[in-house]
Amino acid sequence: MKYTTVKNGATVTVFAPYDCNNHCPFCVNKMDYQINPVFDLENVLRSMWRMDGITPLCDFVFTGGEPLADLAMLDRMFKAVREMNAKGSHHRLFVNTTFPVKSHDDVIYLNGNRDIITGFNVSRHIYPFVEECWDNYFSYVQIPIRINCVLTTAKEAEKGPDLIERFKRFRSIYGFQFRDNYTGVNETNLFDQDTNERLKALLKAFGVKEYGFTSDRFRWSAILQETPLISFHRTQCMSKGVDAKGNVFIGDIIVDPRGNIMDDWNEYGSPLDVEKYAEIFKKKK
Ligand code: SF4
Repeated sequence: MKYTTVKNGATVTVFAPYDCNNHCPFCVNKMDYQINPVFDLENVLRSMWRMDGITPLCDFVFTGGEPLADLAMLDRMFKAVREMNAKGSHHRLFVNTTFPVKSHDDVIYLNGNRDIITGFNVSRHIYPFVEECWDNYFSYVQIPIRINCVLTTAKEAEKGPDLIERFKRFRSIYGFQFRDNYTGVNETNLFDQDTNERLKALLKAFGVKEYGFTSDRFRWSAILQETPLISFHRTQCMSKGVDAKGNVFIGDIIVDPRGNIMDDWNEYGSPLDVEKYAEIFKKKK
């Protein structure tokens, strides 16, 4: 068996070593935090540095849980990426968050890290499952923001006009992404478009007859509107693929809240053989 991945290395997704206080019904991460409530920031940092040593150009994503739930711990993680880039690495850093910003001080703190944060992916859903911040805080943030909205059922997508009304609040924001419900997406049905009721309802609501389309082996995205960018995105819950020869393609590397380095998301992941993964990049040098 050997590993393969994309040129600059798989995206390294780091789960914040602390839980969120929310219970979103579509959450695919919460179970890990609750079944295994042992968190280890120091080991998370060690694993981030280990991956930096192998792929100094890879993207980092901080996710959760809720990365912004503990700014003191998050600060240590920001500092690590800053130090990596200061010594010559070039990591982009994205933060997945519900954006629990409570004051201008929080915004000032985030803006103070704009040298390393490439962008925020902020969840805002049809039903507010989490306490949402004052929308105007977004206009003070000097870092690109994309809003994510999960459509858990086709019925929700049918609310097209209401959805449009809802995201108009965010019209000054860089992008808006409707995400299909991940549960139930597999290799066989991933690329179903003609039968995708959510996509059909959105196309109707936006009056779109032809749409731009991007894809890779695990996900695809349909562009509904260019400016501001509004898209519909469907992905599998996993990002690892095994070919006929048994070679393993790694799409995302996960650093779990305990600092373990895994080769895929949640229950799909196994411990990554880090030495073997590093061989991909030694051969390229
Ligand atoms: S805020 Fe995020 S991690 Fe927490 S329950 Fe909701 S989706 Fe899951």
